[in-house]
Amino acid sequence: MPRYAMVIDQSRCIGCMACVVACKSENDVPPEHYRTRVLEMVQGKFPALKSEFRSELCNHCDNAPCVSICPTGASHKEEDGTVQIDRKKCVGCKACIVSCPYGARFINEEHGYAEKCTFCQPRVREGKQPACVATCIGGSRIFGDLDDPNSEIVSILQKNSSRLLKKAVGTKPKVYYINQFAKRA
Ligand code: SF4
Ligand code: SF4
Repeated sequence: MPRYAMVIDQSRCIGCMACVVACKSENDVPPEHYRTRVLEMVQGKFPALKSEFRSELCNHCDNAPCVSICPTGASHKEEDGTVQIDRKKCVGCKACIVSCPYGARFINEEHGYAEKCTFCQPRVREGKQPACVATCIGGSRIFGDLDDPNSEIVSILQKNSSRLLKKAVGTKPKVYYINQFAKRA
């Protein structure tokens, strides 16, 4: 089985939000919620400020508190390494939302279940890329299998130093960030 992950190359994100729109359209995300977002990050002191964009989404953590806290088993880890929600089992208790250090989840008020990024599981099962990856004009998002030594994602992670968001909390995220405030050519 694969072990899916994503790399976010911050030097390639232009903040166009195409990924956010593609995600909402692909997954019928309620207007007031987002499964992925793009944040503007600022570094330095005025007037020597630098800014760049960083996209965030569910990290499909290997040690996911949203899974361990879920009282019904709705939130679960799949064989492909992704964290998914079984809507039929979800009772909307919000325990997972409170437990996630990344704010990656929300309650779909219309249906009463928790939602978040699925790494576009239905598309990936059809051999496609996640919608955010397919639409990213900057090539900032790279999706692939960490257990495939010939995959682009493995090659990128071998060639670049990467960092994880909130590594210290011990969730073992699988979204890797590279080229944070990298020098532009
Ligand atoms: Fe769970 Fe949050 Fe990790 Fe996603 S980012 S797997 S919702 S703890
Ligand atoms: Fe589990 Fe649903 Fe409760 Fe989240 S809201 S902990 S998925 S039952």
